[in-house]
Amino acid sequence: MPSVDPAAISQRLHQAGLRSTRAVLGVAELFAAASAAWTPTHAEVAGSLAQAGEPLNPVTLYRLLDRLVAAGLLARHTAPGERAWRFQWRGTDDDAAPVAVPHFECDACHTQFPLQNADAPTQAVADALRRTLAEHGHQAARVDLAVHGTCAGCRWPASPAA
Ligand SMILES: [Zn+2]
Repeated sequence: MPSVDPAAISQRLHQAGLRSTRAVLGVAELFAAASAAWTPTHAEVAGSLAQAGEPLNPVTLYRLLDRLVAAGLLARHTAPGERAWRFQWRGTDDDAAPVAVPHFECDACHTQFPLQNADAPTQAVADALRRTLAEHGHQAARVDLAVHGTCAGCRWPASPAA
């Protein structure tokens, strides 16, 4: 069950040197209350806020989402074949088991591609890393697994028209 503690959300924002306003808390709580599988685009978040009777100006919403990403409360990535960012709640509970978020990042265009089919093995890697750290007295909060390289679009750019 995702955390919906507004105090913990405020604390995270504060630790990141960011202001927590009623609006940013409202957006965070929208994510926290939703399923962890909810990875909406900016437009979908705007739609949910409007549906909840708390519509936000699109520019304001972009800034709030950026603030939550900067505070580590939201993850941001692009889905394959999409140009829009998708956002995912990461939560405030540092005691939770680290969640591996495997993705591939193109070093040329910096697009991130989530690797959805790698869940079980990557979670096993995350667990092994956490155990190793625990043996040294460290507490891992989160494990991010990233593969770097060159994406298909950058390797084979569309040929110029003949
Ligand atoms: Zn690329």
